[in-house]
Amino acid sequence: MPYIDFHTHHVPTTTDVIAVVDGRDTWGIHPWRADTISLVPDLSDKLAIGECGLDALRGPSMEMQLQVFLQQIELSEVNGKPLVIHCVKAFDQLLRLHHELRPKMPWMFHGFRGKPQQLRSLLTTGFYISFGFCYNEESLYLCPLERLMLETDDAPCSIVELYNLYNKVADIRGVSMSSLCAAMAENYLSFFQKEPFQI
Ligand SMILES: [Zn+2]
Repeated sequence: MPYIDFHTHHVPTTTDVIAVVDGRDTWGIHPWRADTISLVPDLSDKLAIGECGLDALRGPSMEMQLQVFLQQIELSEVNGKPLVIHCVKAFDQLLRLHHELRPKMPWMFHGFRGKPQQLRSLLTTGFYISFGFCYNEESLYLCPLERLMLETDDAPCSIVELYNLYNKVADIRGVSMSSLCAAMAENYLSFFQKEPFQI
């Protein structure tokens, strides 16, 4: 069973990894670059919109970030593509947006490092939660498997790091590697509405 990397900036070099590569499989305007003009490409072969979102610590003003994020939420809804979200120090704003807009497409909080309290708010709101190398162990333990995703983001040795991450998570959760991989494959299908496949 393949290992799924739900958000990475590197194309995998082994055949046992199925990766959602930022820019190749998804398209979006990162909040750090919300002040650049980007033409929306043909989205038909993209799995999702993103990464996009809000970052209070970096990038142009929050007003500008919000404006660009709203456009991408609309793209997600109009094109029927789920959303991959980068959110730093804008947690309440993100939840508020979800409650106001009530999107039909699922949203994934990528690189989640928050505590169980934030995790619970996201889960109640319907988010999928993607964990990378930096995480709150209690949150990782508490997140239901059917909403959990794993990612290497921009880690340079992404393949080795991915194996390590799967091992750690299987250990923390007390599940076998094969059932963890099976759960990730199911989440891929329910989030992207497509079977995981190799490119
Ligand atoms: Zn990323």
